Order: sequence, then C-alpha cells, then structure tokens
Amino acid sequence: MTAAKHIGVYPGTFDPITKGHLDIIERGLTLFDELIVAVAESPLKAPLFDIDERLLMIRREIKKHKNVRVEKFNCLLIAYMKEKRAKTVLRGLRVISDFEYEFQMALTNRKLAPEIETVFMMTAENYAAVSSRFIKEIARLRGDVGAFVTPNVKARLKDKYFPSGR
Ligand code: ADP
Repeated sequence: MTAAKHIGVYPGTFDPITKGHLDIIERGLTLFDELIVAVAESPLKAPLFDIDERLLMIRREIKKHKNVRVEKFNCLLIAYMKEKRAKTVLRGLRVISDFEYEFQMALTNRKLAPEIETVFMMTAENYAAVSSRFIKEIARLRGDVGAFVTPNVKARLKDKYFPSGR
C-alpha cells in the first residue's frame, strides 16, 4: 500500500504575492509532497487586485514547481481543507506582531477541526518587513518595490495605479 500524499495548504489574500510569500512557498515545499496555494477572495479586505488577477500573478511565479497548485476558495478554510483531503495549514511568520493574529486563527481552526494542524515557517530575514500592504502604499506613491516583488508583480502594480502609463 502506498502512503497517502501529504498535502499542505498555504492560504492567504496575496494582494499581491510578494517575495516573502514566495519564500514561504519554497520552504513549505520541503515539508509536503504537494502544496496548494489557496487564495481567499477576502472581500472584506477590499483587495486591490481581483481574485483572478491574484491567481494569475501567483501562477506565473510558481510555474517551475510541478508540485504547487494555485486555487481560489470562498468557503471556510477548514471546509476547503476537508474537500482537498489536506490536514496541514501552512502560514508564515514575520514579526512578533503576526503572532497574536496567527495564534488566534490557528486555535479557532483547531476548535472547529481538531484533526487539522497549522504549521508556521519563519520568513527569511530579508523579507521580515515585507508586507503586501506596505508594498501597495510604496507603489501608489511611485516608490520602487523591486526589492519586495518580482518584475511582473511590479509591472502589474504600476498598471493598477497608473493605468495611462504616466
Ligand atoms: P492573510 O489575509 O490571510 O493574512 P496574506 O496574503 O497577508 O493573507 O498572508 C498570507 C500568509 O503569508 C500569512 O501567514 C502571512 O503571515 C504570511 N506572510 C506574508 N508576508 C510574509 C513575509 N514577508 N514573510 C513570511 N510570511 C509572510
């Protein structure tokens, strides 16, 4: 009998995907046979990029990995996990301030579904201060976000904030 595949789910808003997210995906791949990057629509966060734009940007960046899939989800994370037969949630930690939110979310998910475990991976030092929120603010104010996102994402941010190319 072959062992069941160990599937990890990395959920988030990814508005947009950053080098910090990509670093967590690379690290996560050392733990799982397959990783699903699960993109939440997150309407309450009023994302800059719509769900399909976010999916496209991520797919472009992870093309080289055959064992990473990118999907959207709109339901409760644990319901999605059950549907995918995945038992492990992957999340990234940057700074202490991430901890409280992540801890609460992991405990809430554990209450709802005790069989699902959350694992945290620490960001690479260079990306500890990288957040989608700050990147959007820098791009909106015409700053250079090249250190934090890939060239394609940088171009998409520019299109979004300055559609006429100005
Ligand atoms: P959410 O809306 O679920 O917080 P995000 O896209 O902001 O979605 O983040 C998804 C996950 O990636 C979270 O666990 C977050 O802590 C982690 N993350 C975001 N930026 C980084 C980074 N620079 N380094 C490591 N982890 C990160």
